[in-house]
Amino acid sequence: MKVLVLNCGSSTVKYKLFSMGEDRVLAKGLAERIGSPGSRIVHRVEGRDEYILEKDLPGHQEAVEAILYILTGGEYGVISDVDEIKAVGHRVVHGGNYFNKSVVVSDDVLGLLGECGRLAPLHNPPNITGIQACKKMMPGAVQVAVLDTAFHQTMPEYAYMYALPYEMYDKHLIRKYGFHGISHKYVAGVSAGMLDARPEELKIITCHLGNGASLCAISGGKSVDTTMGFTPLAGLIMGTRCGDIDPAIIQYMAEKNNIGLGEVMEVLNKKSGVLGISGVSSDFRDVEKAALEGHHRSALALDMFSYSVARAIGSLVPALGGLDALVFTAGIGENSPGIRWRVCSRLKYMGIQLDEQINPAKGERIEISVPGSAVRVLVIPTDEERMIAEETRAVVEECNCSADVPGEKKRVICELTGTNVMIS
Ligand code: AMP
Repeated sequence: MKVLVLNCGSSTVKYKLFSMGEDRVLAKGLAERIGSPGSRIVHRVEGRDEYILEKDLPGHQEAVEAILYILTGGEYGVISDVDEIKAVGHRVVHGGNYFNKSVVVSDDVLGLLGECGRLAPLHNPPNITGIQACKKMMPGAVQVAVLDTAFHQTMPEYAYMYALPYEMYDKHLIRKYGFHGISHKYVAGVSAGMLDARPEELKIITCHLGNGASLCAISGGKSVDTTMGFTPLAGLIMGTRCGDIDPAIIQYMAEKNNIGLGEVMEVLNKKSGVLGISGVSSDFRDVEKAALEGHHRSALALDMFSYSVARAIGSLVPALGGLDALVFTAGIGENSPGIRWRVCSRLKYMGIQLDEQINPAKGERIEISVPGSAVRVLVIPTDEERMIAEETRAVVEECNCSADVPGEKKRVICELTGTNVMIS
């Protein structure tokens, strides 16, 4: 089965075409600067030169059209016809309370995803635009939404509620949702294999440390708590995001700087975190280099970041009632032995012992704790696209669904079995 994975941002479409049976990536690429001058598609096929198509791409539909053209045509094509693509897996950031697993995108589902756009105004609209473009361009393929929030829908009520007046939840859906669910789920699945255990018997904390960063407490394969909240601004200190702060600071910052709430939120999202503290960069490679050269604020930013991760790990242990393993993933988690060392050094009291010889490994699946460490520590490169492809295949197989023949009005022949969709 061939599955196309799409991740649509406001001005980009990332894609990867999988041949699931062969476990192969046939092609991948990025359409960028959609809607702006200089738009282009960078397309990669293993063993061939990179291909760049410079093309005016006014919207996502044109981008999807051009991607399909490259995939099916000429020297850089990898399939002969679009109809070879059985399903498209779309990354969708927010599924609100509606979805606890991946789902075939019917018109009803599309409506609910649109409703969740209130909760993720920067992310859901481009995700939806991508789905609509594919529905139009590929009427023969099943469209599946794979949601970043779905994995966290197993959190207990006491973990996801905020201590605000209950109406805030009832009327406005204000609660903790959690994000990075696709990545947390993927590395949790891989970790069970590395630990030679069944997921149902494991208590682990997965540490997705990239530009955005979050931890997830996973018990028996299910998310029971996470550090991100109503939005991806909460929790850990991140590249440019502040993470948890006293909410009263928001009003105080607005008054002291004579700026509106929108500007304050811009500062909290884009000018804070490691960038705001170091004044150097949001990229850990630059900040680690500056710290080594004696730059105090960079060293402080690294200390604050690793302390925030270690402190959050400690705070999640009660959600699990114990801890078998810690898993590091994403750009920093996979590639920064220094950050892993700083975090684990603060957790020696739990009996965590890193192997100093192995910890410097980068970007590979590896266990970095010493044999006999009370908590085992793993590094697992995340692969969100693969997870989306696997989820998509599972949904298609579970529902035994297909799309109607091209040309007719598209209707998914599927009962959405087992999906937690609250449609009245
Ligand atoms: P992600 O969001 O998962 O793509 O992670 C991106 C971040 O990973 C970058 O901003 C860097 O801060 C970090 N990163 C990537 N490579 C390295 C490296 N070799 N050492 C330290 N940090 C890295």
